[in-house]
Amino acid sequence: MAGPSDFDLFRTSEEHDMLRDAVRSLAEAKIAPFAAEVDEQGRFPQEARDALEANDLHAVHVPEAYDGSGADALSTVIVIEEVARVCASSSLIPAVNKLGSLPVQLSGSEELKTRYLGALARKEGMFSYALSEPEAGSDAAGMKTRAVRDGDFYVLNGVKRWITNAGVSDFYTVMAVTDPDKRSKGISAFVVEKGDEGVSFGAPEKKLGIKGSPTREVYLDSVRIPADRMIGAEGTGFATAMKTLDHTRVTIAAQAIGIAQGALDYAKGYVAERKQFGKAIAEFQGIQFMLADMAMKLEAARQLTYAAAAKSERSDSDLTFFGAAAKCYASDVAMSVTTDAVQLLGGYGYTRDYPVERMMRDAKITQIYEGTNQVQRIVMARNLPA
Ligand SMILES: Cc1cc2nc3c(=O)[nH]c(=O)nc-3n(C[C@H](O)[C@H](O)[C@H](O)COP(=O)(O)OP(=O)(O)OC[C@H]3O[C@@H](n4cnc5c(N)ncnc54)[C@H](O)[C@@H]3O)c2cc1C
Repeated sequence: MAGPSDFDLFRTSEEHDMLRDAVRSLAEAKIAPFAAEVDEQGRFPQEARDALEANDLHAVHVPEAYDGSGADALSTVIVIEEVARVCASSSLIPAVNKLGSLPVQLSGSEELKTRYLGALARKEGMFSYALSEPEAGSDAAGMKTRAVRDGDFYVLNGVKRWITNAGVSDFYTVMAVTDPDKRSKGISAFVVEKGDEGVSFGAPEKKLGIKGSPTREVYLDSVRIPADRMIGAEGTGFATAMKTLDHTRVTIAAQAIGIAQGALDYAKGYVAERKQFGKAIAEFQGIQFMLADMAMKLEAARQLTYAAAAKSERSDSDLTFFGAAAKCYASDVAMSVTTDAVQLLGGYGYTRDYPVERMMRDAKITQIYEGTNQVQRIVMARNLPA
């Protein structure tokens, strides 16, 4: 079988199928064996990072002009989906590499794109996205982190909270206030490097799920960076941050359907083996109806996610609605399917001896980050399709 590095552009359905086969094989061989241990120990899945980088699957969205694969949005979805099917924590490597770097790709200068997208593609460092703060979550525009111009530099001060892969990533897109009187129009975006003086990290959060993906605070203590690290013009950072989320909510939907598929696959195999009342429990209609509903909901979520990916690829005018709808619907489906998978395994499903309880815990975060599902409904209501 062709390896994923053997083709650069994934644009036809045959190529998407080949990509899925290749990523599934890789994920089952190199990522799945560590998923339970990564969760149990709450450690970063270095094996997954190595496997993804060795096969150029860590950031397939980076355009060819910047040394990337130039893969389309659906290909990125397929990579994340297949990795999440075996390990949700590991799927945050390609997902957050896209989230962190997309502001540069959408709004950055040519110099910033060459430098930072190139570095990401060449595996010189991962990217994170720093929008949220302790007092500014759903109301992200209420952030307090300040960036003050000083000659050819900006000086950043503040605290970013809940930053995925913080400490592991080398590059951070940081949103900060440059004009406090203008609220969202007074926010600008910057690239901050891990090695910049004054950057430090909090202890990893102790979370319910995605325990292998470090979530930390990022402290900015008089971090002095060259002015040309600003992404786009002053005051455009919040708009760039929101435009980024339109695209990357599709990747969270991908993560959700991957987790749900992993749980459904496991439960399907289990009910065929488990015997009660003298037969496999799969023979009971009550079980069959549960599996049918799980598969139906999952497929509906997948179709919506792929439609949203096509809109992301074309930057369609209704992407904002579709990105929010895909993320909201797929994450609700993931929560329901993983909960049903635990139910199908009975008492065994409730233990760490089987992967479905991990999948249920991991699914929960997809309803919360990149905007909670209440926030997705606000976004959808404001952007209803014509
Ligand atoms: C594991 C993890 C990883 C994360 N990774 C990142 C990251 O990499 N980068 C980053 O910038 N952020 C990240 N986040 C932050 C995440 O996006 C926020 O947690 C999320 O946006 C919610 O903000 P909050 O936690 O402050 O909740 P709050 O905003 O305080 O919300 C609390 C509750 O109130 C509800 N609510 C708030 N406002 C409304 C309203 N107007 N109408 C109805 N309900 C409302 C919410 O839906 C929620 O149920 C991460 C969070 C977690 C937990």
